[in-house]
Amino acid sequence: MIQENMEAVEHVIESSCGRAGRSRDEVTLIAVSKTKPLALLREAYDAGAREFGENKVQDLLDRIPEMPADVRWHMIGHLQRNKVKYIVGKVAMIHSVDSLRLAEEISHEAVKQGVEVDVLVEVNVAGEESKFGVSAADCTLLVEEIAKLPSVHVQGLMTIAPFTEDAEENRQYFRKLKKLSVDIGSKNIDNVNMAVLSMGMTGDYPVAIEEGATYVRVGTGIFGERQPRQ
Ligand SMILES: *Cc1c(COP(=O)(O)O)cnc(C)c1O
Repeated sequence: MIQENMEAVEHVIESSCGRAGRSRDEVTLIAVSKTKPLALLREAYDAGAREFGENKVQDLLDRIPEMPADVRWHMIGHLQRNKVKYIVGKVAMIHSVDSLRLAEEISHEAVKQGVEVDVLVEVNVAGEESKFGVSAADCTLLVEEIAKLPSVHVQGLMTIAPFTEDAEENRQYFRKLKKLSVDIGSKNIDNVNMAVLSMGMTGDYPVAIEEGATYVRVGTGIFGERQPRQ
């Protein structure tokens, strides 16, 4: 089942890139495996997945040793400062940096371990009360501050768009994140790259690709519906 789902997602990615006049290799699929059993992660790996996304530190710590070493792990969930030390050096990218204090902790731990950490700044583009992420208005300043920290490197922006039945409703937010990344990129801030745009989930990733996503984070579309966590 996983292999068929991955093929279907691949097909959608290709056709979305085609519609947008983008090359397929501009978009990387992250298989969001949160709450799913390891056997399904292995199936996804066998079907070609090499980038996996998890939203809990403990799940990352449990799963990393159980999967092949060439998997690139993405921390996509809210990260508490006291847990930073467990994942620095273990994940390819942290997508959910939304405060200077969190970035400072990542930097501190990276220096201590002698590693370099790539991060994305999470932006609450839709201004939803319930969501983590810096506001679009405060994003540039936050990026400028993080840029000054040692051993932490902003590679772009991430957003979680509102839950909606109609993906078209989220086009405005993807467009806004893209514009924000272009604006920040044009400032040529030292130690800041705006190459990555992590946006789009199962319900809306074709629209996100049309609007410039470089990472799409697909869970349900690969692994099926999730049970709520206990
Ligand atoms: C769960 C999750 C996803 C994947 O959601 P689906 O709708 O199942 O594709 C993507 N991004 C983040 C941050 C998530 O927490």
